[in-house]
Formats: sequence, C-alpha cells, structure tokens
Amino acid sequence: MDYEKSRKNMVETQLSSRGISDKRVLEVMGKVPRHLFVEEALISQAYNDHPLPIGQKQTISQPYIVALMTQALMLKEDDRVLEIGTGSGYQTAILAELADKVYSIERIRELSQKARKILDELGYFNVLYKVGDGSKGWKEYAPFDAIIATAGAPDVPQPLVDQLEMDGRLVVPVGDRYSQELIVVERIKEGIRKTNLGGCRFVDLVGEYAWDE
Ligand code: SAM
Repeated sequence: MDYEKSRKNMVETQLSSRGISDKRVLEVMGKVPRHLFVEEALISQAYNDHPLPIGQKQTISQPYIVALMTQALMLKEDDRVLEIGTGSGYQTAILAELADKVYSIERIRELSQKARKILDELGYFNVLYKVGDGSKGWKEYAPFDAIIATAGAPDVPQPLVDQLEMDGRLVVPVGDRYSQELIVVERIKEGIRKTNLGGCRFVDLVGEYAWDE
C-alpha cells in the first residue's frame, strides 16, 4: 500500500475540501504515519474517513476531527500543550510536530505504554506522559497555552479552564454520553469566550470532573 499517497488523498478529500485551511495542520496530517497507530488488522483502513477501534473499548478519532480540533488550538512553535486522552498516540504526534512540548495524560496504562513505544520509535521526544485522570489537568506543569481533551465530558472541566494561560485555547467535546458539541474555550482579559464548532461523537471522559466509570 502507498501510504504517502493515501495521506495526500486524505488531506485533499477529507480535510481541505471540508474547510481545514491551516497550512501547518494540513502539512503534518500529510506527514504523520497514521497507519502505525492502528491495529495491524485495520491498517488498510487507517486513512479512511472514520474512527477505528484501538482496544480497551477506545478509538482513534476520525482524521477530520483530529484536524478540526488541532486547527482550533492555533498552535505556535513555542507552545506548551496539555492533551487528555493519549489513546493511540496519533493526535499526540500531530501536537508534538506543531508545538514545543506536549503533556499527555491517559487513564488506561496499556494504551499509554503502547502509544509511548510508537512515539519513541518515531522520535517524538518532546512528549511527557502520565497515567491518570486528565479531567483534573496537570497542575505541576500548568498553565498551558493550549489544552485538548479527546473524550466527551458532561461539562467543561473547571480545572482545565483554570490551567489555561492568558490567551490560551481549550478544545473539549461537551454533551451527553451519545453526542456532544465541540467547544472551544479561550481565556481572554475579560474572562472566557466560548465557541461551538458543531456536533461530534466521542467516547466518555471518565474522571472526577467528568463521567463516573
Ligand atoms: N487522541 C486519541 C488518538 O489519537 O488515538 C484518541 C483518544 S480516544 C477517542 C479517548 C481516550 O481518552 C481514551 O484512550 C480514553 O481511555 C481516554 N480517557 C478517558 N477519560 C480520561 C481521563 N479522565 N484522563 C485521561 N484519559 C482519559
């Protein structure tokens, strides 16, 4: 299979054509080998327009959703980013390409370890990993320029808002357990500003400031 061609096709037909316009985001989505982050049996579907199972009842998000959330973070090269839900590590790689440092939290140890192994092999050494409840954020390293939660919460977790730097951006799916809206929270001088990027469907964010198990 020609993975480079599949990526190029994915960028053109699933991202650019649907309004993803940030050049840096399109460039890294065309570069990061998504097929290495999915189970071997699903490799032929790695660049398809849908999420895929990654074990432990979790998923790697659809390419379009990864691009949409990343674009909303408006990352700069010297940004420090908190990611909640390492999952397969694919989104982590995208963030590690675009920012200075990524702090990634995953509640399922096996997923965190597997993701770390792939990311280490690919040479992403600007990532710090933690196994635990990301709904509480990562106080030790706060504040962050950008925060992304890749699992759905009933409300915006307050600790994540509190751990945003001035002018920082937080992207989080908020709703019930079946469907959510993609919410962007920006910390501005006057307080916070919320924008809704539209409907989405994620697995549960499970934790103290999210859903019960
Ligand atoms: N971004 C991932 C990727 O590219 O593969 C997809 C993540 S998957 C949709 C959501 C992940 O969030 C799951 O791996 C799940 O275990 C994790 N998760 C759920 N609640 C969490 C929490 N409170 N803290 C950290 N991770 C959590």
